[in-house]
Amino acid sequence: MGKQSSFHMTPDEFRMYGHALVDWIADYQQRVATLPVLSQVQPGEIRAMLPPHPPTHGEPFADILADIDRVILPGVTHWQSPNFFAYFPANVSGPSILGELLSAGLGVQGMLWITSPACTELETHTLDWLVEMLALPEKFKSTSTGGGVIQDSASSATLTALLAARERATNFAINRAGGTGKLVAYATSQTHSSLEKAMMIAGLGRDNLRLIDVDETYAMRADALADQIARDRAAGLTPIFVCASVGTTSSNAIDPLPAIGAICQSEQIWLHVDAAMAGTAALCPEFRWIHAGLEYADSYCFNPHKWMFTNFDCDAFFVADRTALINTLSILPEYLRNEATKSGAVIDYRDWQIPLGRRFRALKLWFVIRHYGVEGLQFHVRQHVQMAQQFAEWVRASDAFELAAPVPLNLVCFRHKGGDAINQRIMERINRSGDLFFTHTKLDGKLTLRMSIGQTHTQLEHVQRAWARIQAEAQAIQGRDEVI
Ligand SMILES: *Cc1c(COP(=O)(O)O)cnc(C)c1O
Repeated sequence: MGKQSSFHMTPDEFRMYGHALVDWIADYQQRVATLPVLSQVQPGEIRAMLPPHPPTHGEPFADILADIDRVILPGVTHWQSPNFFAYFPANVSGPSILGELLSAGLGVQGMLWITSPACTELETHTLDWLVEMLALPEKFKSTSTGGGVIQDSASSATLTALLAARERATNFAINRAGGTGKLVAYATSQTHSSLEKAMMIAGLGRDNLRLIDVDETYAMRADALADQIARDRAAGLTPIFVCASVGTTSSNAIDPLPAIGAICQSEQIWLHVDAAMAGTAALCPEFRWIHAGLEYADSYCFNPHKWMFTNFDCDAFFVADRTALINTLSILPEYLRNEATKSGAVIDYRDWQIPLGRRFRALKLWFVIRHYGVEGLQFHVRQHVQMAQQFAEWVRASDAFELAAPVPLNLVCFRHKGGDAINQRIMERINRSGDLFFTHTKLDGKLTLRMSIGQTHTQLEHVQRAWARIQAEAQAIQGRDEVI
């Protein structure tokens, strides 16, 4: 059948355009360092380049490819630039991109074991590998009481953990009968905002999220947690969930898991540990101290899609007791019933997540782990940490700048000593120039600059250039006496 009759892309056309697109991506990798990191377009500029109405007649693929450069690229902020130091890394790699492509090519729905056994079994297996690679507690393995599952995001992992905690604490009553308004959860002001959202979605209410005080390193004060739990119990409330962070988004603060875990154990509260970015560091034995106390956790997650060269979306979520999770999320309509599920011999990951459908995401993770090997991943994590430590050293040695928080791993929080206004200007001007891209947070009410180091191709020269650029911008602003 020709194109006229079927409208489909033939396998030969796919081969040709596929090769062209892979070439385009390889060229992009070679030139991304030369592109302005932060997209320079104004709001609406990209849409203005698009036709107002969808095409009635199919267009040649070559025209679509040409529009990647013309329409799309100007509106891309280059997360894959070695000069990207904003937010957190979302570092990708060749094997991961190819794994995504294969997943798209197979196009399977992995909701049940039977809908593609390889999708489920590869996922179970690679997540067991991750337990070994990060030296996580054995209970998180599928061969023990728990197991791992790939979620789309750490936010979904938190929500899923909260739901399981809610049901475990109420003997599965809320699923049946709705909320009571008496269940409370605990975190700090530094905890990721996804927990507040999860409280809303889970029907627990954000008023029932207690924000526990932090110490001078922005980590949770375990004594304050214990006090708040006691006050809540005295008021007739039921504490059900503590979310501890290993590496907060804002400053990479690490909550004291041993003390928090002991409290959760004696109070029978679900402990979820969110290590979205920092967890990857545990690939290296010398950084595994970040997970001290993890044996207390009921659930844990980290994002290979942040700092482990794996395309978004890939959050590795582990539970210690899979029964609590499955009992919380399982419903079995008639049209999904099958012998394998009935036998109990297989995992049906639809019971481990919010949606029903799921992509074959384990492929990209498998490709990454096999391509780099543990040693390759360790090598790059060490490099990133080393570069961040070097940057912190430069800040420490400078007269004009200071560190704003401890630097345990790959994130440096720092600021110019001249106050918020100059920090704001330094950041805005540099980001507008496109030379590099970095972002800010607030610590103790003060504007704080963040250098998040973890892009796949970032080398010391990029970090050096960033530091020189930041210092020069500060001097230029002061030279012009612009500081308010
Ligand atoms: C980035 C981050 C999140 C959110 O991750 P998503 O996968 O985008 O939901 C949650 N927690 C921490 C500590 C983070 O750094």
